[in-house]
Amino acid sequence: MRAAIAAAEVGDDVFGDDPTVRDLESHTARLLGKEAAVFVSSGTQSNLCALMAHCQRGDEYLVGDRAHTYMFEGGGAAVLGSIQPQTVPTLTSGMLDLGAAEAAIKPDDAHFARTRLLCIENTRDGKVIGLEDLQAGRELADRHGLGYHLDGARLWNASIALQVAPADVAAAFDTVSVCLSKGLGAPVGSVLTGSTSLIAEARKWRKMLGGAMRQVGLLAAAGRHAIDNHVERLAEDHKNAQLLAEGLVEIDGIELEAQNTNMVFVRTTQHMPELEQGLWRRGVQTRWSGNHSRMVLHLDVSEADVETVLTAVSSELNN
Ligand SMILES: *Cc1c(COP(=O)(O)O)cnc(C)c1O
Repeated sequence: MRAAIAAAEVGDDVFGDDPTVRDLESHTARLLGKEAAVFVSSGTQSNLCALMAHCQRGDEYLVGDRAHTYMFEGGGAAVLGSIQPQTVPTLTSGMLDLGAAEAAIKPDDAHFARTRLLCIENTRDGKVIGLEDLQAGRELADRHGLGYHLDGARLWNASIALQVAPADVAAAFDTVSVCLSKGLGAPVGSVLTGSTSLIAEARKWRKMLGGAMRQVGLLAAAGRHAIDNHVERLAEDHKNAQLLAEGLVEIDGIELEAQNTNMVFVRTTQHMPELEQGLWRRGVQTRWSGNHSRMVLHLDVSEADVETVLTAVSSELNN
């Protein structure tokens, strides 16, 4: 990836003149079966540009009550977009409760914000939402004239787990955001894809949000390298997550809550405030919230590292 960055041809992308950015955008659009794409600095900026492309000031979007877009993006849709979130309960499958979503759609009346957009996340806590559920969301959106956006930060994991093409996971949506960072290993960047007109609108908002960047082919080259080399291998992360889960469940004092794609959710059976520091002293960095932890596998965590984690956890709990 460092070599790809060093070799990247660059230009001024604010003028649409950076060939490496243009290549990343057209390649990602093609891969996701969309007309157009825009390279953005982060998943947060990507989702916000999408929401602002779909919705006007005073409009509303339907979003999962645990969704990243709602919970973990600083309330940007409301603060910067003047878009009201209407939260919808999330089912144990990870999909939104579409019945509740439909019931929350507002009548066309001056008392209400105008419901304009349905927003889904896949994967959600690592849970893969299947194509039928995604299509059911499309049908709901069509019945009510709503736009349909996918926060596909982890669309790649869904595609690998379902053994379908990325375009199949993206097919039902008007706009799809994918992350090149995190599990894919690029240092920076997301791509928002969709129709030519929605992406033109998103590009305008990206500029206003301070996200138009100049010789940014350096970062786009990293993103292209990640897409070309780090998608298929996500299957290893899913396998390592399974090995980690299987190992942890054998350790007294640990209960497995779930293992979904590259994520493992565990808890200790007793309160262990010292566990995080104890593991750290053994060379394993983890984060715990009370007695819960979410462990995420990615390309920098090998099968041997999983063994190291299991040995460290076992030693800490059985000392
Ligand atoms: C990380 C993440 C984002 C935001 O990406 P950033 O690049 O960190 O802004 C959006 N959605 C989901 C589901 C994520 O996991």
